[in-house]
Amino acid sequence: MNNLDDLYREIILDHYRSPRNRGELESPSARVEGFNPLCGDEIVIYLRVEDGVISDVKMTGHGCSISQASSSMMSTAIKGKTLEQAHRVIDRFKEMMTLKERSLDEAEEPSEPDLRSLGELAALAGVVKFPVRIKCATLSWNTLAQALDEVESAP
Ligand code: ZN
Repeated sequence: MNNLDDLYREIILDHYRSPRNRGELESPSARVEGFNPLCGDEIVIYLRVEDGVISDVKMTGHGCSISQASSSMMSTAIKGKTLEQAHRVIDRFKEMMTLKERSLDEAEEPSEPDLRSLGELAALAGVVKFPVRIKCATLSWNTLAQALDEVESAP
């Protein structure tokens, strides 16, 4: 388990140090700001949606390593996906973030395939053990959900 923890820590630090899809988009389909007052994390997400596909995503913001790494990972996970696929990734990620510690420890069958299907995002699974950091990890995902709402409710 230690090796896996090290690998996960490496992935998180790598995204924190070299965040993917950093920047702004001109005339985006949606621009939404998110804020986590508990930790002071801030994020702004820019989405470009064409024919129901997230053709581009950029983000700015600052905050702790968990919040910034999570947003970087999120951007790579949803770029090129359809809106429906993006919703599914959000659902799976939030499911992972609400898993009880018990089910992680017991490694119950249902959580195993879910974690695998999340790829790199599984690196954030350990955050559930630190309830105060869960809002850091979910900030970008809640903000993304708002951005998708905005796109989908646009005329
Ligand atoms: Zn934070």
